[in-house]
Amino acid sequence: MQTSESEAKYKYCPLLKTSDDKMKMCQGSMCMMWRWADDLKEAGYCGLAGTVRGR
Ligand code: SF4
Repeated sequence: MQTSESEAKYKYCPLLKTSDDKMKMCQGSMCMMWRWADDLKEAGYCGLAGTVRGR
């Protein structure tokens, strides 16, 4: 799923948890798994979810 980085920060990360076991939000480009979908860096996706298929 492609999204802007600002929107990604409102979506849950499947890996990150707080110390009291609650899910944390995506860290966007602060995370090594984040991938940009375009050269303008207007959209990206979590690299853990696989390659982009369609839009
Ligand atoms: S890009 Fe990083 S922080 Fe965001 S959902 Fe993927 S693993 Fe989690």
